[in-house]
Amino acid sequence: RTVYVNGEYLPEDQAMVSVFDRGFLMADAVYEVVSVLDGKLLDFAGHMARLTRSLDALSMDDPLTEDEYLEAHRQLVQRNGITDGLIYLQVSRGNPGDRDFVYPPKGTRPTVVMFTQAKPGLADAPAAKTGWQIISIEDLRWGRRDIKTVQLLYPSMAKMEAKARGADDAWLVEDGKVTEGTSNNAYIVKDGRIITRELSHDILHGITRAAVLRFAREAQMQVEERSFTLAEAQAADEAFVTSASSFVMPVVGIDGTPVGSGAVGPVATRLREIYLEESRKTAI
Ligand code: PLP
Repeated sequence: RTVYVNGEYLPEDQAMVSVFDRGFLMADAVYEVVSVLDGKLLDFAGHMARLTRSLDALSMDDPLTEDEYLEAHRQLVQRNGITDGLIYLQVSRGNPGDRDFVYPPKGTRPTVVMFTQAKPGLADAPAAKTGWQIISIEDLRWGRRDIKTVQLLYPSMAKMEAKARGADDAWLVEDGKVTEGTSNNAYIVKDGRIITRELSHDILHGITRAAVLRFAREAQMQVEERSFTLAEAQAADEAFVTSASSFVMPVVGIDGTPVGSGAVGPVATRLREIYLEESRKTAI
């Protein structure tokens, strides 16, 4: 693969970041994942807007303009021959030259790293037809989950627990309510209403979430932004998750209890179709 590091395009085995980089030592970095379908970027402006919010929340300088990020995304798609896949982008506070809790002085150059992940047939994932099995696990992450930082150890542990129990992913639960999935936003459908947790510091403000809720409302579907319990989810007609990499993915079982009929339902199926169709139209 050709990867991007601080303005340069390099073979992946020649790309290097300092051992003192704060992204490496302190998870002092934010990231974005943009999906690519037919060589085009989905929801690019939304991902760039959230990158700006994450950087602002951490008082980190943004080293590139949106046009420069777009150019780098396009270069990587082209140089790596990506038709369907993902582009990972990370901005860290850079290399202050030593380990220190104090932020480096203004003017320290942030580190920008980008790379591609080819995913042939990304939009036709077989799991979209069969749905995911989900386990629940306590949400032990920090209190600013709205900032998309690279602190992903707990979600990674939760994903391992899900795999160990034969499931596909985990939903995180705090004070009896579902916050979100390890790397996706969580939804249930009851009596035709689409229910998903309201935006706050407790969850990542998903770019796919924003798009899916907009399309749902445009299609005259009822949307309720509020938290829900696991019991409510297990008694729902349908459940699903959204993210840039899975789009809309049906959930058919929670902690071994089938959701609804235990098969993929019509609302999740329709939302997936609408999302893919509409977001392809605005892909750049
Ligand atoms: N929630 C968490 C914790 C995530 O890590 C992600 C994506 O990685 C999402 C939600 C979905 O966000 P998006 O739709 O912007 O990919």
